[in-house]
Amino acid sequence: MPFRTIAGHSRLLSLLSRAIARDSMPPAVLMAGPAGIGKRLTATAVAQAINCLQPITTPRPPRTDSPAQRDPAYTGHAARTESTAQRDATSATGELERDACGECASCRRIARGTHPDVVTIEPGESGSIKIEQLRDVIDQSQYRPFEGRRRVVIIDEADAAGADAQSALLKTLEEPPSASVFILVSSMPDALLPTVLSRCPRLRFGPLTPGEVAHVLRRDHGYSEQDARAAAADADGSVGRALQSQSDDLTGAREDAERILQAAARDSDPVRRINLARDLTEGKGTPAEERNRLAVRLRSLGSLLRDVGIIASRADRAMLANADLEARLEQLSASFDPERSRRAYAAVDRALAALDRNASPKIVADWLLLEL
Ligand SMILES: [Zn+2]
Repeated sequence: MPFRTIAGHSRLLSLLSRAIARDSMPPAVLMAGPAGIGKRLTATAVAQAINCLQPITTPRPPRTDSPAQRDPAYTGHAARTESTAQRDATSATGELERDACGECASCRRIARGTHPDVVTIEPGESGSIKIEQLRDVIDQSQYRPFEGRRRVVIIDEADAAGADAQSALLKTLEEPPSASVFILVSSMPDALLPTVLSRCPRLRFGPLTPGEVAHVLRRDHGYSEQDARAAAADADGSVGRALQSQSDDLTGAREDAERILQAAARDSDPVRRINLARDLTEGKGTPAEERNRLAVRLRSLGSLLRDVGIIASRADRAMLANADLEARLEQLSASFDPERSRRAYAAVDRALAALDRNASPKIVADWLLLEL
């Protein structure tokens, strides 16, 4: 998956692309950040951009001091014609000096996991990375790549490597062979040995925007526009998390949340409001499912209220998590001015905290409906 097809992270992608184009990619890097946001995909894209047989390069102003200018490997491609679509995609994700074509034999084999010079190591069934898994790649890294430009070793969930495995790796990281690049991927980088951390420049990956998550869900996972938006609004910027909570009926939750806000907007009668609270709790499952049902609806409420606040305060609408509901949220903002939407959002937050502390779902829902 080339850089230009990865959602979000445009600054980091353009940084990596530039380093690869100028042959200044460090021999070891750590890609750190929350789970499910594209770190491993990016690592694979790095392997492709390095080893692609027909890379797409963007011409840049000549600079005599750059190694890329002197390296004949980089020159022939600058004039390569790009299709309009490629140019558009490139400009949409920020400047990419070099990107993989995604179609040549090398790119395909890397995507399939069968390129001899690109190795991905990940925890086995035991849940940990064993020292034996690392030995081979550490030995191999001393030699020239078989056919690629540089060997790329991706260690996914590197924090799952035991102390002995990390120590074995450390020796290689201390004197990295120039023909290899080690990419450590971790959502819990603090679990890595400080000595390992100090050897690897850290690339900090942040959460995706709800719009980016929804885009990936539609493009790669067959979600409808509506389902993608609903799932993305509850995913904390993580595609992985959105996919995990697929079974939670997020679309239904968002519909319930919207209905409650509409009703609360026009009706302050406490009895009718308490009746509305049933929409939040009336499930037919176990107590745990009941609790989860309420939590999902509360997060939907919070997400809608945040958007209403954005509209009411005339902030940038590009930040809307539920952009597909914009017109209806606009109507709500007539009743929920910035102050009211802020207070309601804070109440949802307190309700979620109470639920975390094991408060009764019914009491939490009743209380919240009176606060909206
Ligand atoms: Zn290629």
